[in-house]
Amino acid sequence: MTAEAPIYTLSEGCPYADPSTAQRFGNSPVKGLMLLQDTQLIETLAHFSRERIPERTVHAAAVGAWGEFEVTHDNSRLTSASFLNGIGKKSKVLLRISTVGPERGSAETVRDVRGWAMKIFTEEGNQDFVFNSIPVFFVRDPIKFPSVNRSHKRNPAKNTADSTMFWEQVLNVTLPDGRWLIPSSSFHNNNQEGIHALMLLFSSRGLPSSLRQINSYSGHTYKLTKEDGSFVYVKFHFKSNQGVQGMSLEQATKLAGEEPEHHTIDMWNAIERGEYPSWTFCAQVMTADQAEKYRWNIFDMTKVWPHADFPLQPLGKLTLNRNPENYFADIEQAAFSPSTMVPGIAPSADPSESPSLRPSAGLLPRAYADRDGAMRYMTNYGDDPNYVRSSLRPVTFRGSLGANGSANGGREHEDWVGKVTAYASEVTDDDFEQARAFWKVLQTAGEQESFVDNVVAHLKSAMARVQQGAMDMFSRVDPAIAKAIKAGLDKHSAIQTDQPSKK
Ligand code: NDP
Repeated sequence: MTAEAPIYTLSEGCPYADPSTAQRFGNSPVKGLMLLQDTQLIETLAHFSRERIPERTVHAAAVGAWGEFEVTHDNSRLTSASFLNGIGKKSKVLLRISTVGPERGSAETVRDVRGWAMKIFTEEGNQDFVFNSIPVFFVRDPIKFPSVNRSHKRNPAKNTADSTMFWEQVLNVTLPDGRWLIPSSSFHNNNQEGIHALMLLFSSRGLPSSLRQINSYSGHTYKLTKEDGSFVYVKFHFKSNQGVQGMSLEQATKLAGEEPEHHTIDMWNAIERGEYPSWTFCAQVMTADQAEKYRWNIFDMTKVWPHADFPLQPLGKLTLNRNPENYFADIEQAAFSPSTMVPGIAPSADPSESPSLRPSAGLLPRAYADRDGAMRYMTNYGDDPNYVRSSLRPVTFRGSLGANGSANGGREHEDWVGKVTAYASEVTDDDFEQARAFWKVLQTAGEQESFVDNVVAHLKSAMARVQQGAMDMFSRVDPAIAKAIKAGLDKHSAIQTDQPSKK
């Protein structure tokens, strides 16, 4: 809020008398005809119908805050990235934590992965991280990314979430004229490489108590690079200093009705109280030589690097300490791109990591060759040359060039990866091994029973053969899981028929 009362103007800045008036023709103050010449009226109505920006297809509903990133360790052995070097150095941060499937305005206490989109404002440009609250993903072939997301969203005919569609592709909707509709997306029983992520989703990690109590993970493998061209492979982790805590299905369901913005309120109030949530930023570090010999494909996003093999090394600390001044301006409009990387951080040959959108709204002052275009609101670089290799105003370059053209350094290691070919990856028994390790983690945590309850709660409305397909998939992790799921479905008398759902 500004101190002085601002002067009201039209959108181009011209002062105007009274924002509540409209021009009319005629003498009567009530019956006069409205005039199209009334710029204020037209502008006001036109702006109202345009004041939303298109909703994100995924990650539409979010909570966000400002904060700072502080270097807590000497990381010079790993990277030359300026924001990661110099103990005590601080950089401004914006963090946006989202659910994935549900629309903007939906209840926040739902079972879902949380997206973790973060912008670190460094003296070498912005560093964007686009992480998730679980360490693995449902697919490793990016071509399947739209499908997995659609299967977690709404059935295209019924416009409801649909557990049958989530688990399996079937003919499940009869149209009034008797035709059956094939949903355009389907998923997990047919794409079993996702079993590891699926198990995390149905564990307590899929339903966090608050967003202060989640971890986040790069999932993807990055490179940390140095100016001499050397590099290491890394997976990043943000570990909550508040501890990780889940919520029961009953509590979540109640809150979804009583306080659907529970996570927003919790985060806002904690920051207002001065209880600033913080996370320890860590990396698992692997050399190129280790990568070549490692039993797991380090570019497979359905796999973790077990802690025992590659322990977490702390690098820094993230603290959230300021609520948004305006949600739309600060959080809703924020755009993040995994391709935005500072020198010292580089992509790896991870197939699902290909840089995506580069929003024009994110243009920075020194990207001098890019001119004009939509949303050019900051600077258009005056009369700086708009062509390369100008002798009138030469530009300087930093660092050694990586193969991706950025100043990230990082000797290439692509010869190890091999030639480019097109294929869909096969599902093998290996895909079930880490899921099995996770089942043991759940045993230690005393969470196996609630995991089964969570799966049953979702699976109970799916068709019988879809339920069977899911049980067959869980059998490959451990037959005991399928047995417990079957018992759960029987208890709820929830074994369905194979008839198309009439809902
Ligand atoms: P460890 O056996 O060394 O440790 C288990 C890890 O599992 C913990 O560090 C913790 O990750 C996570 N975890 C602990 N309790 C729970 C729980 N109740 N629900 C969900 N996650 C929990 O791990 P490994 O590295 O040998 O991996 C074993 C399994 O643990 C993996 O297959 C994976 O499913 C899961 N895991 C592994 C991670 C990794 O990066 N290696 C990260 C997260 C989960 P955290 O400290 O990150 O909270």
